[in-house]
Amino acid sequence: MKRTTPGSQASLRESNGRRVLEALRLFGSLTQAEIARRTGLSPATVSNIVGQLREAGTVEVSPTSAGGRRAVSVAISQRAGLVLGLDFGHSHLRVALGDLSHQVIAEDKINIDVDHRAEEGMVAAARLVDGVLARAGVDRAEVIGVGMGLPGPIDATSGAVGSSAILPGWVGVPAAAAMAERLGLPVRVDNDANLGALAELTWGAGRGVSDLAYIKAATGIGGALVIDGRLHQGRSGTAGEIGHTTLDETGPVCRCGNRGCLETFVGAPVLLRLLRASYGPELTVPEMLASAARGDIGCQRVIADAGRAIGVAVANLCNLLNPGRVVVGGELAAAGDVLLDPLREVVGRFAIPAAVPEIVGGILGERAEVLGALALVLRETDAVL
Ligand SMILES: [Zn+2]
Repeated sequence: MKRTTPGSQASLRESNGRRVLEALRLFGSLTQAEIARRTGLSPATVSNIVGQLREAGTVEVSPTSAGGRRAVSVAISQRAGLVLGLDFGHSHLRVALGDLSHQVIAEDKINIDVDHRAEEGMVAAARLVDGVLARAGVDRAEVIGVGMGLPGPIDATSGAVGSSAILPGWVGVPAAAAMAERLGLPVRVDNDANLGALAELTWGAGRGVSDLAYIKAATGIGGALVIDGRLHQGRSGTAGEIGHTTLDETGPVCRCGNRGCLETFVGAPVLLRLLRASYGPELTVPEMLASAARGDIGCQRVIADAGRAIGVAVANLCNLLNPGRVVVGGELAAAGDVLLDPLREVVGRFAIPAAVPEIVGGILGERAEVLGALALVLRETDAVL
């Protein structure tokens, strides 16, 4: 980009253009009136900037009928670049290709062994990426960045995977650098709960909320905090680890080394263990959820008790941070109100009345993390501008 004198007309134009692109990067497609509202620029200035960006091929406009009125919607052009999202789960691997207008162009998924090693996982991911790019007819050079999610704590400075009982084959691996080398593309990495939060914030149940707590209720209980529209990472990347809230200091030993953490009472494997004596040793999480949905009292009871336990931790979180909305995602969230109603009841009882937030289920299901990996890159200013 050309150097411009600060305060000059050209530098003002440049910074206004940057504000318009930043709004489009965060919100996907917007009408010119919405851009003016989001950026605080006048409608005439927005119209001018959009005209220039359109001429340069950076944005595209298309007719829309928002609210019955005819308008044009503006989005960053596909020619401006594409982004990739990778989600490494403990039993699956997902890839998504998206553009800067927030459209998902192609996706793919494979099942992968629970205890896969980092090397194996990255080879499989690279193969999946090649397949998705080929099917979408996209050249690798068009991809400006890759977001990657792992179900473990990520060291914010080194980008390495910290200690984790979920993905032991990845501990100590500098995940972002290793994947970047394999793909020949810049890679950013974050943990699965943070990505779930970003996805719900961008596309799902958290849209329009600037202070949000996200709970991922699955094998483990993860959490993420969005404060003032931004993910709050904390000093070493562990902010939001609600699963390790102490419920019983003489309780079972947790994978983190402490006793009686929330996760040791409500993680999916714990719920299955409670049910297997009566429901058979082969019971799976999808079967437990299906039985609960059909009205099975035992399965409903176990899930409701989990909701109550999570509610105690969420009530404490609400008293401390006062989020406007709590979004519950992860595999167990598919239980819907069987999980959420008891959770709401307990938050209603233990949180300060003024701190009781709206509590809703996530709407992106098992795609939340891979979409969050896309959002991670979309929100990264430098990669796009
Ligand atoms: Zn713990």
